[in-house]
Amino acid sequence: MSEEEGHAHGHVEYRFCPRCGGGLEKRKLKVIEPERLVCLRCSFIFYLDPKVIAATIFTIEGRVALLRRGVEPAIGTWVFPGGYVDRGESVRDAAIRETQEEANVEVRLCGLLDVYSYPNSPNVIVVYAAEVIGGELRACDESVEARTFSAAEIPWEELGFESTKDALRDYLKLYLNAKT
Ligand SMILES: [Zn+2]
Repeated sequence: MSEEEGHAHGHVEYRFCPRCGGGLEKRKLKVIEPERLVCLRCSFIFYLDPKVIAATIFTIEGRVALLRRGVEPAIGTWVFPGGYVDRGESVRDAAIRETQEEANVEVRLCGLLDVYSYPNSPNVIVVYAAEVIGGELRACDESVEARTFSAAEIPWEELGFESTKDALRDYLKLYLNAKT
């Protein structure tokens, strides 16, 4: 999973209007909604939208494929392949593309596992169960190691993110009938 947490507008403070360069100010526009950034010069409202991440979980000979991250955040931890969906790209295509880029395998999506999101995080993680139809598992792009784990071997203490843990738990239960 690429830069799932601690990224982009989760933590960065925007100070200037992207449209006219005027200063931004936080304003309460609707009672039940969070404060918005509003341009003092042109009144543009800078909405901080969620970021969508597409990911896949798949097995090879009954073992779950995971990648060890070679970049921050969560460098050195294990994750399944995934990354940001580009604007205009379908979420399904992004999941397939990211899996090819990071794990060097071509996959077919079998079904939606679930959608994972958490309070105070900008990320919405869409996870598909997938099956390999080509290529060979190999670490590339942002990963430094790729290997497979049996359900009993999953390194729960060394997983990258909350969503990694939650999605793997769901996958094992639904697809491998494993108790976790
Ligand atoms: Zn402006």
